This record gives sequence, structure tokens and C-alpha cells, in this order.
Amino acid sequence: MPKLSPNLSGKINSKIKNLPSSQIRSFSKGIAQIPEIIMLTVGEPDLNTPEHIKQAAITAIEDNDSHYAPEAGKMAYLTAVSTYLQESLGVSYDPKSEICATVGVSGGLNVTFMALFNQGDKVIVPTPVWEVYFGIIKMAGGVPIQVDTSADNFILTAEKLTQTLENEGNGAKAVVLTDPSNPTGRVYAQSELKALAQVITAYGLYAVSDEIYAELTYDHKKHYSLTQIIPDRTILVSGLSKSFAMTGWRIGYIAGPAEIMAAIIKINSFLITSVTDNVQAAATEGLRAGEKDYAAARATYGKRLHIVQTGLEQNGFEMAVPEGAFYIFAKIPSAFGSDDVAFANDLATKAKVGVVPGSYFGAGGQGYVRLSYASSEEKLQTAVDRITNYVKQSL
Ligand code: PMP
Repeated sequence: MPKLSPNLSGKINSKIKNLPSSQIRSFSKGIAQIPEIIMLTVGEPDLNTPEHIKQAAITAIEDNDSHYAPEAGKMAYLTAVSTYLQESLGVSYDPKSEICATVGVSGGLNVTFMALFNQGDKVIVPTPVWEVYFGIIKMAGGVPIQVDTSADNFILTAEKLTQTLENEGNGAKAVVLTDPSNPTGRVYAQSELKALAQVITAYGLYAVSDEIYAELTYDHKKHYSLTQIIPDRTILVSGLSKSFAMTGWRIGYIAGPAEIMAAIIKINSFLITSVTDNVQAAATEGLRAGEKDYAAARATYGKRLHIVQTGLEQNGFEMAVPEGAFYIFAKIPSAFGSDDVAFANDLATKAKVGVVPGSYFGAGGQGYVRLSYASSEEKLQTAVDRITNYVKQSL
């Protein structure tokens, strides 16, 4: 095994070296060793990719779709994205200049931030948020300005945004929004988005809207999008990983005004040349004919949500109503104190249930834990029973 030459040691890009690594991942790795633990830590569907989507990829491989795709993506895929957005949100994007294929939503967020930020540009990040945002923003030279939304049921209000822009967020270039949210499962109402859009416009900001969980909303809560209100300043980043059970395929898309998309497409081409040829055929099939799949997934997750939500509430956990994605962000009962890392460790060791400490998701997450219900009903029920026993025995 090669050992790095001593005179090169410590000479790795300091910006990268100083980035914290994922706390969620290292915490999960640590507790995964506990025998018989039920892990509710992962942000990944337990469902498999639907057969017709797999078949489309198999056919594409057999048809020798194994070449470089165009830098922005294949026209069939871009057209499918355009049609999908038109049908689901009523918004119009030209597949020739306003959409780009990406390596998952992570890849999409990376190239979007690279296109937007000069070194030191501020970006408003409502928290709690998917932890990875901090790393991606900093890697692109941005400076995340956290806005704790815990006092507002985990919704960024227009008032809070204004207040931040007048203070520590002064001069910010962009705001990011995850709707539906990981980790809180909160979904923005149309009126809340409209109020935010006014502030975003007044302060001349870009809005980066991560809508990866758009198809997964429950109890008739409808998903709205900033693209419907301020398309001239919104960059939509979305994909098929969650709602279409395609995390391992690594495909997503960005849609936005042509001028910013040209920069994004340029970066994407330098970074990855193009998205995997045959994977685009699978994603095209998903967008064209996947409605019944995500409708079924939505029904499945909806049932699971109620099992976990009811179980937690009966044990004294409080939460802002989870309406989408597949997470519950629950406040630890006060009798347990507010050290969420200690609580999650204790729950893992004694009750054999793995959850993620809320403080890993940024300001406002302290004293909470995140549970993912992308797991079978049987496992979730056992996890609830174990939590019930744990609470009874601890108090
Ligand atoms: N955005 C959010 C809010 C997420 O929760 C995740 C996955 N945990 C991603 C983006 C990454 O998605 P992908 O797997 O498509 O890169």
C-alpha cells in the first residue's frame, strides 16, 4: 500500500480538509453494530425500483445505450422532465435550454452552488436541514447562514427571512428551501411560499428549491413549488431517488432560467461529462409512467407514518405535524433532558432502536431526534413497542 510522501503530507486542499465529515453516517455506523438493532436512521426507501423502470434500462443496455450522452442530458429524458413538470406543477421549461440532467440531487445541488457562489457569498439555510448542505455550500465557496425555524413549526416565515436578511444574512445571494423537508417532514403551504417569494424578490435573491420529496405528501397535503410563483429567480433541483425508489441509479435534474442553466450545464460537463447513458432511459420511463408507483409508495409511507407518529405521541414525544417525505422529527420528552446525542445513544443501546440526533441537522435541532419510516410496518411496530418499554422503564 502506498504511503503518502512525507513532504506532501498536510498539503491537501485546506478548504476540503476542514470540511466536517457526515455525523449522521458516523453515528449510524457506530450503532449499527448493536445486535438486533432496528435502524430508523437511513434516508433511503426500503422499496425496490419498479419493474418497468428496470426493464427500460435493460432494453437501453441491449440497444447499446453505452456512449457519452449530450452534456445537458438526452433529449428524451429532458423532454420527459419538461412534460412531468408541466403536468405536476403547471410550469413550463424548455428541454433545449432550461433543463439539465444531474448525478442525483446531490450532484444537482453541487453544480447549482458552484454556478452561483463567488468565494464568501452568503446563502440563507433554514434549519434543521439535511446535514450535507453545509458541506456542499462550503465546498462551492458559499457561507451558510443558518435560520433556526424550530419556533415556527419548522417553516421559514417571511418575517424570519426578512429579519435574517437585515442582520447576519445581509447581502446574501440565495436562499435554499427543502420542501417537503428532510428532516422535519414539513410541507410549505401555498400562502407561505407566496409570502417568502415577496421577500426573495424584494431582496434580489436566488431561490434554490430542493423538491426531491415532492411526490411524497400525506393526508391530502398538496405540494406547491416556488417555480409556480417566482420562476425567474428559482432553480428547481429534484430527482427520482426517493419517490421512485431509485437512490442507487444516481439521477436527477435541474430546471431554471436559460442564463443560469447555461452556467450549470457548463460546470456539469466539466465535472461529469454527462449523466450515464442508459440510466437516463430508466428515469425517462419513471417520469413518463411512474405515477401509479409513487402513488402506491405514498399510500405505503402514509400508513407507516401513522404507526410511528401515534406510537411516539403516546410516549410523550411532540412534533410539528409531519406531512411529507418519510421522516419524523420528534422532540425528546423533557424528562430525558435535551442532550439528543446522549438520548440517541441510550435508545440504541438499551431499546435497540437507531435514530439520528437532531443537533446534526443544524440550529434548532437540539433536543430532537429524526426517525425514518422507510421501513416495514412490522419493523416500525416493533420499534414503537421497544420505545414504549424504554420510556416506561426509564421514567
Ligand atoms: N436533498 C435532500 C433533502 C435529501 O434528503 C437527499 C437524500 N438524503 C438528497 C437531496 C440527495 O438525493 P440524491 O440521492 O438524489 O443525491
